[in-house]
This record gives sequence, structure tokens and C-alpha cells, in this order.
Amino acid sequence: MSQEIIKKAGEIIASKTGYIGGGMEGYATLTLIDENGYPTASTLTIAKADGIKWLTFCTSNSRNSVKRIKKCNRAGVCINSAEYNITLVGTIEILTDAETKQEMWFPPMEEQWSGPDDPEYCVLRFNTERYSLFVGYEEAKGTLSPTKDAMLKVTPPSPSRDNSLIEQYKGDNTTRCYGCGAIVDNIIGRPHKYIGATQGCWNFYGEILAKEFGEYNYPETTHRLTVDTYAVQHPGQPCRQSIQSVNLHLISLYFVLVKNSSGKEATIKMKELLSKKTKFDWLEPPAPNGQKTVIDVLRAASLEEHEEKVREWAENVWNCWYSKHKQTIDGLVSDNF
Ligand SMILES: [Zn+2]
Repeated sequence: MSQEIIKKAGEIIASKTGYIGGGMEGYATLTLIDENGYPTASTLTIAKADGIKWLTFCTSNSRNSVKRIKKCNRAGVCINSAEYNITLVGTIEILTDAETKQEMWFPPMEEQWSGPDDPEYCVLRFNTERYSLFVGYEEAKGTLSPTKDAMLKVTPPSPSRDNSLIEQYKGDNTTRCYGCGAIVDNIIGRPHKYIGATQGCWNFYGEILAKEFGEYNYPETTHRLTVDTYAVQHPGQPCRQSIQSVNLHLISLYFVLVKNSSGKEATIKMKELLSKKTKFDWLEPPAPNGQKTVIDVLRAASLEEHEEKVREWAENVWNCWYSKHKQTIDGLVSDNF
């Protein structure tokens, strides 16, 4: 029973890692002891993890957390939502070797550091000694033997998914994603604050991002389409962030698909629009919100095929939105660009 709960907790952590989730969402609360002996809490994005055994965080050398760890290496980590609570206690270490820094690096970090060899960038590795898990109304508590010897290498989810595996998702423990309608694993969890996706669908999305960041070497325009399409296909409920998200991602899709802009150019357009403090309206999602989903993209077996599938998916979802909201989208473009 405990093993099952530990496994589920590990899956939840994996779905929250920056590497898998694209750094969009998913963080852990890290508690450390400060210079005066008081516990302090801060939130950090999880870079990678191996089940509940260890987690890494990418941070800056100048951060308080690094100074605290140098004084005291005891730490606690908490990852929670309404459906689960994962609390881990253990030790934490600061890693600055080139191999680890390279291993934990993923492209969105370029916004913060110049590259994996930036001397300001370092990796924190938390090693679990004790756990207390509450997942799916079941509890497990226990200790783990320290895993100092475990190498940092984690294999991102399988690069080329076997199609037969996808077919299996029509099996027993599946659910329909309330965003895109894809049949996905029925996994407990609410993966994102405002993107309306089921955990199983989010994990598939994570696999796609992992491929783009990893073996496909960050094809930036395709990656732009992936992120935008996923966001508008999972609009969630009307709230300030979801309204802004859908509007911005639609504008990005407009520039890439209609104006043939590159991913980089579309990102600049999004930032421009955001800086204008435009008042966005909630756009009622089209029904269906596209007929293609992440599952169609996961079938690709090469970069070329991946780029083709992403574009088909993006065009399909975009057409649904544009035929319903042509006036609003055209208006946003003519008013702002
Ligand atoms: Zn979905």
C-alpha cells in the first residue's frame, strides 16, 4: 500500500518539475533554518526529481537559501494541493559542478542566467530521509535510506512513445480531459492554477515539452505553437489570469500562423500587448475546442514529424477559435499593432 502511495507522490512531483512542466507552474515550499536558528519557508520551482527520493532546485549563489544551507543542511519540502500533501524531511546540498549544472539546465532558464556555466547559477539537491504523504485520501509515513550515491541522471519521459501505449488509454483507469477532450490517464491532481487541464493530459503535455527541450533541441517556433495551443485548448474558468492567458496565446498563434512570424517574434508581440495594459474579455471557448490534441502530437517519431503534428494541432485549434472570435481577435491586432 505504502509503495503505491509513494509511487503516486513521485508522479505528482514529476508532473511539477520545471523540466517537465516547462517551468510554467509547479513549485515546492522549501524550509531551511536561518542564521538565527529560525525555520524559514520559501517557494522554488523543482528542476528535476527521482520519485520522492530527491529533488533539485536551480537557484542563484547570492540567494539567502544558499547562505542558510552553508550553515545548516537540514531541510523540509512540502508540495500540496487540495487533493494531496507531500511533506519530506532530509538534507540539502549545493552543487556547482559543471556536469550537474548542465544536467539540470533547460532553455527557459536563459531568462535568468547566461547559460549552464554562469557562475551565479547553482543547483540545490534535497535528499529525502523521512516522508509523510497524503495522496488520494490515503496516507503513508516512513523513512528512506539516504541516496547520496544515486546519480543525478534522470531520463525524461520516453522520447518516442509507442502508439500502442496511446491506444491503451482507452482502457480502464482513464478519464476525458475537460479541456481538450482527450482520453488520458486518470491521475489525481490539479496541475495548474488556471490552465484547465486534467493531470493525465498535463503529463502528456509535459512529455511533449521534455522532447522539445531535450532530444529536439528547442525548435523555438514549434515550441511557441505547442505552448500557445495547449493554453487556448485548456482555457479553464473565467478569472483574470485565464482571460489574459487565452487572449495573449491567441495573439501569438495569430502571428505565427497568419503572419508567418517566428516563435521569437510572436513572444515579443505578446510582451508588447501585455505592456499596453489592454483590457481583455473572456472569450467563450469554441465547441469543440479543436479535434486534435496532445495525443496526436505524441505519435510523432521524429523532429520533422513532431513539427508537422504540432502545426496541424495548432491550426486545428486556431481555426476553431478564429471562426468563433474573428472580430475580437482582429480588433486586438488592429488596436495594438
Ligand atoms: Zn487536455
